[in-house]
Amino acid sequence: MADFAALYERLQEEREHLTSKLAQLKSANRPSSDKREGNPSGKKDEEASQVLEIESRIRTEKNLEDSLSEIEHALEKYGAGTYGSCDSCGQPIEPARLEALPRASLCLKCKSSQSPNARGR
Ligand SMILES: [Zn+2]
Repeated sequence: MADFAALYERLQEEREHLTSKLAQLKSANRPSSDKREGNPSGKKDEEASQVLEIESRIRTEKNLEDSLSEIEHALEKYGAGTYGSCDSCGQPIEPARLEALPRASLCLKCKSSQSPNARGR
């Protein structure tokens, strides 16, 4: 039997951590100095690397948001008294899995039967 109270605390800590990380990322995302003119040489390279940078930031932001929503979901389940059971089949999630990933909402069997593209939950 997993220690749900401890897992709940870990989820809350993780939520705080991710929320502040996301806020940091979003404030760093503000386009303040994206127009650097008067530097025609190497402008294409610069633009390309800026696009890459923005893309990777968006990806990171998306990952953080996904994790955050999984955590929110797990916390909701905790409140509803269904924490620790699989969203798909209703069976208890393996305690070792919850220890490793407190926000897990699917048992290993359901998780692995999902298509690789349907990641997340
Ligand atoms: Zn399941």
